[in-house]
Amino acid sequence: MISPSLPAGLIAKIDSAFPAAAREARELALFLHRNPEISLQEFKSAERIGQILSAAGFRVRPGIGGLKTAFRAEYGRSKKPAVAFLAEYDALPGLGHACGHNLIAGASVGAALALAAALPPENANIVVLGTPAEETLGGKIPLLAARAFAGVGAAFLAHPSNQTRVHSRSLALVSLEITFLGKSSHAAAAPEKGINALDALIQVFNSLGPLRAKLPFGSRADGIIREGGRAPNIIPDRTVGAFFLRARNLPLLEAVRRDFGRCVRAAEISTGARGRILQQGFVYAPFLSHPSLGEIFEKTGTMTGLKFTSAETQGLGSSDIGNVSQALPCLHPTYAIASPETVEHSREFARAAGEEKALREMLKVARAMAYSGGFILSRPGLFQLLQKEQKLLIKKSLLPL
Ligand SMILES: [Zn+2]
Ligand SMILES: [Zn+2]
Repeated sequence: MISPSLPAGLIAKIDSAFPAAAREARELALFLHRNPEISLQEFKSAERIGQILSAAGFRVRPGIGGLKTAFRAEYGRSKKPAVAFLAEYDALPGLGHACGHNLIAGASVGAALALAAALPPENANIVVLGTPAEETLGGKIPLLAARAFAGVGAAFLAHPSNQTRVHSRSLALVSLEITFLGKSSHAAAAPEKGINALDALIQVFNSLGPLRAKLPFGSRADGIIREGGRAPNIIPDRTVGAFFLRARNLPLLEAVRRDFGRCVRAAEISTGARGRILQQGFVYAPFLSHPSLGEIFEKTGTMTGLKFTSAETQGLGSSDIGNVSQALPCLHPTYAIASPETVEHSREFARAAGEEKALREMLKVARAMAYSGGFILSRPGLFQLLQKEQKLLIKKSLLPL
């Protein structure tokens, strides 16, 4: 553990650079809010962010990792590992910025601009990574595979929420599609000639109950029926279900997947329908919140007026930031822009993400991230310490509860 004491000179420099950075961050967040673009269509968003950063002297590489709306922007000549501020900017279909990703981009760009203006280039290594499609594909996962995070020693991504927290958690997730193929027949005249693919799928749902009872603590198995047959007088010969399986860590997720596979086999045996399991997209890893980055952000966030809660009422979803956190020291704090009843992915949250209160909180977060980045880049030996803790964190996450 470290005790963050921030050099006064650096604080003063960030403070004097902050008003200009804050103006850019505000305008950007509002521009994105007015022009929401869904996953992988974030062309205007990525272009606008790239323009702001290159005007401030960042070297911007668009279209990295095979994703047209991703980018990596770099500032500084220091040979140390980089501090990265991650930007998401995808909106939700029909709802606009109901996850507040316009504010994620705003805070990260604001932090990067203020820090870049405060540090001489020879002492700076600042990265802004544009990571598209968080809501669908999990854009950070192909970006990790394409080494877009190379050289990054610490990464921050602050997500708007209805609670202000230093540490957040998320579960490992795999998304599976199950197709059962049977044989159609007249449901009344000759049911014995058919093989009922719907019975098979319903059996899988029925087995979720007993399965949930034996799953490791914290695991989840949820599903829907996508195709359930065409008419009541036809024995369904094809049905499709979609399932999300979640667990606290990746080995447990594999165990849940194996158990779920057995439920599918059992349904095959009892109905005669053939089942096919197809993984959809990437496996999301659980988020590992880095303790020292948390300590640093808690201190800097308190300085900028954030009021952190430690209440244990956090719901657990899954996100591609989990995969980043398994690869390098990472912090994913949240900050309240709405009342506790207002949940993400709602119209109310979308409205809140464009309001003055949200912008004010976003700027507190941006300044706190700039302070945190400045502290990390100026303290000798800190990256090695963060790395050491990262190894322990991974080890700990694999232990049984
Ligand atoms: Zn979301
Ligand atoms: Zn989100």
